Amino acid sequence: MDGRKFRFAMGNFSTGVTVITTELDGEVSGMTANAFMSLSMDPELVVISIDEKAQMLEKIKRSGKYAVNILSAEQQDLSMNFAGQSKLDKDIPFQKLSGVPVIEGSLAQVSCEVTGSHVEGDHTLFIGRVNDIHLEDNEPLVFFKGKYRSLSPIEEMASG
Ligand code: FAD
Ligand code: NAD
Repeated sequence: MDGRKFRFAMGNFSTGVTVITTELDGEVSGMTANAFMSLSMDPELVVISIDEKAQMLEKIKRSGKYAVNILSAEQQDLSMNFAGQSKLDKDIPFQKLSGVPVIEGSLAQVSCEVTGSHVEGDHTLFIGRVNDIHLEDNEPLVFFKGKYRSLSPIEEMASG
C-alpha cells in the first residue's frame, strides 16, 4: 500500500493536538502527538503512540512518566515547536503535576506513570495510569488533513 494514501486516509480523522512531556535527569522534553486516547475508567488509563525514531521514546522508557497536554487553539505555536516545524523564541512555561512537567494554558494536563508498553510496527504504545489532572477552560486546537484548525459552532456553519 502507498504510504501517502495511508496518511491521507488517516488525516481525514480530525483530532485534537497534544504535547507529551517528560523529565529525565532534570531535563524537560516535549513532543507533539495526536495518537492519544482514553483507554479505561477503572482504573483510569490513557494510551499514547510514539514513533521508534522519536527522541521521546527512550526518554519515556527511562523516566517511566509522561504528561499529556491537550492544546488550546491559542497554542498552535507550541504544537509547531514540539513537532520541530518551527522554533519559539520565548521560554515555555512548564509547571509540575504529580512530579511531571506540564504546559501552562493547556486545556487538560494529564499526569501519568507508565504501567505498560507494547511495541507494534514502528511505534510503541505507552499505557499511562493517571495520577492527577488539571483543567483550563478554552477552545481546542484541531488537526485535520495535515492542517491546524479551530472549531466553529454548528449553528454558525448552518446559517453561514
Ligand atoms: P525532538 O525532535 O528532539 O523534539 C521535538 C521539538 O521539540 C524540537 O524542535 C525541540 O527543540 C523541541 N523541544 C523539545 N523539548 C523542548 C523544551 N524543553 N523546550 C523547548 N523546545 C523543546 N509522532 C509520534 O511519534 N506520535 C504521534 O502521535 C505524533 N503526532 C503528531 C501530530 C502532529 C499534529 C504533528 C505535527 C506531529 C506528530 N508527530 C507524532 C511527529 C512528532 O511530533 C515529530 O516527529 C517530533 O519532532 C518528534 O520529536 P522527538 O521526540 O524526536 O524530539
Ligand atoms: P500527515 O498528513 O503526515 O498526517 C496525517 C495523519 O496520518 C496523522 O494524523 C496520523 O494519523 C497519520 N500519520 C502520519 N504519519 C504517521 C506515522 N509516521 N505513523 C503513524 N501514523 C502517521 O500530517 P503532517 O502534517 O504531514 O505531519 C507532520 C509530521 O508529523 C510527519 O512527519 C508525520 O509523519 C508526523 N506525524 C506522525 C504521527 C504519528 O507518528 N502517529 C502522527 C501525525 C503526524
